[in-house]
Amino acid sequence: LSAQPLRKGDVTAEEAIRHADHLPKKLLIDGAWVDAQSGKTMPVVDPRTEEVVLRVAEGDKADVDAAVAAARKAFDHGPWPRMSAKERGRVMYRLADLMERDREELAQLETLDNGKPIFFSRAADVPLSFDHLRYYAGWADKIQGKTIPVDGPYWAYTLHEPLGVVGQIIPWNFPLLMAAWKIAPALACGNTIVLKTAEQTPLTAMKLGQLALEAGLPPGVLNIISGYGPTAGAALVGNPGVDKIAFTGSTEVGRKIAGQVAQSLKPCTLELGGKSPVVVCKDVDIDKAVADTHFALFFNHGQCCAAGSRLYVHEAIYDEFIEKAVKAATTRRVGDPFGDVDQGPQVDQDQYNKILEYIDHGKNEGATLQCGGKARAGKGYYVEPTVFTDVKDSMKISREEIFGPVQCISKWSKMDEDSLKISREEIFGPVQCISKWSKMDEVIQRANNNAYGLAAGVFSNNIDEVNTLSRGIKSGTVWVNCYNLYDSAVPFGGYKDSGLGREKGEYALSNYTQVKAVYQPLVNPAWR
Ligand code: NAD
Repeated sequence: LSAQPLRKGDVTAEEAIRHADHLPKKLLIDGAWVDAQSGKTMPVVDPRTEEVVLRVAEGDKADVDAAVAAARKAFDHGPWPRMSAKERGRVMYRLADLMERDREELAQLETLDNGKPIFFSRAADVPLSFDHLRYYAGWADKIQGKTIPVDGPYWAYTLHEPLGVVGQIIPWNFPLLMAAWKIAPALACGNTIVLKTAEQTPLTAMKLGQLALEAGLPPGVLNIISGYGPTAGAALVGNPGVDKIAFTGSTEVGRKIAGQVAQSLKPCTLELGGKSPVVVCKDVDIDKAVADTHFALFFNHGQCCAAGSRLYVHEAIYDEFIEKAVKAATTRRVGDPFGDVDQGPQVDQDQYNKILEYIDHGKNEGATLQCGGKARAGKGYYVEPTVFTDVKDSMKISREEIFGPVQCISKWSKMDEDSLKISREEIFGPVQCISKWSKMDEVIQRANNNAYGLAAGVFSNNIDEVNTLSRGIKSGTVWVNCYNLYDSAVPFGGYKDSGLGREKGEYALSNYTQVKAVYQPLVNPAWR
């Protein structure tokens, strides 16, 4: 296999549409591409033009049931959970190699479907996805139990067995990467899968399905359904033949799914929304902190679950920071994602409307609009990069997930100024000055004063501040003096309303295995 070099030049949307035209545009069930049983199709809309570029099969309950039956058959009677773990790993390596071979096509499909700049599809989404397959291909033959010494003439051991049929539901913001995060650990552990793609972005999963068949994945091991949440998604969650649900999406839908699976006691992992705080201390290199916190929010047009969307900047550097943050936002190049831009359109009309509504809330609630604050004129779901300052924690734009290019910056802290004063000046009284802790306490309290707990950023050159903040903030990930790193080996998931369980790394293996303990008699043990 020869991997194509990363193309530097621009590409036209027409080339991407040609790739899309060659996709099956159907459902993958039991190793074959089939139409929806209802015959229905759903539109794929180009977010640059708001026009329907093609239609794909719209799966619903009947198709989900067929896909679950195929996955059941493949699990109960097929070779996948029975073949040697090494061979499973080899098939997964082949799939990763094929994704790398076709990475330019995958990148173009992702940009067409989602609107993210082609540069990011090429440099982030696609390579992170095939890396993920490789990472878990390496785990396939390292999933193992323990031998356990026990009382009496017995010994015991554990087996880490696959769960069975896994139902997986993914969002539209990183369509291929979210599919990779879901299928790779499940496959490595020997499960079979029904994957429901997001209604906005079915294309790269279709290409992934084609490549999985080419790689030699047996029929029924990976079934892919394009369809809507309340129909296909709900049918998958409710199907009694599914042994586990793994969901990535909004907290609102995550709650519904948790309620639905509670009755059946099905294991369920939930990767949900976020409203991640980023704390900038006063000793930082301001230019670097501005660049990193800009990336923390505006990456993927703000459509990132971990977006650094509540930015707390120390009062001592606040004014200079704001001036530079606003400059970074206003010089952002917004336009056709197939060109050389930083930001394309938002994914669809609903998201676009929702973001503009949040911007109105920000204006009405009294935050200071520094730049942006409206849609770009003309066709396409383009929103101007927006910065609000003087954001109060009680405001809607500070509490809720906007999922758009809207940066909310607050100043900290009044208490800090007081505590600095008392630590500088002689008080001559029974006053113990623990200024560092009190100021940290305030910003930690503000950072934690939110229902979500997915990720956080800490920018400081003081090791004590870094340690205090990274231990004090309640979130599943903390990035220190950096942001948005997503190595396959490192777990990812949320505290509080941001979810249940962890994806990625060794931790994700436990999502897709169950532990069996086996006791056996031990005759004539050597050491007795
Ligand atoms: P969403 O919850 O609306 O949809 C996500 C998926 O769930 C889609 O495939 C949708 O069709 C399906 N769905 C909708 N209703 C359903 C139902 N009743 N039953 C079953 N499935 C249903 O979310 P979205 O708008 O597509 O994605 C954005 C959200 O995803 C944001 O909140 C974001 O933070 C979150 N997200 C989280 C992570 C993470 O790792 N924590 C990663 C990416 C995105």
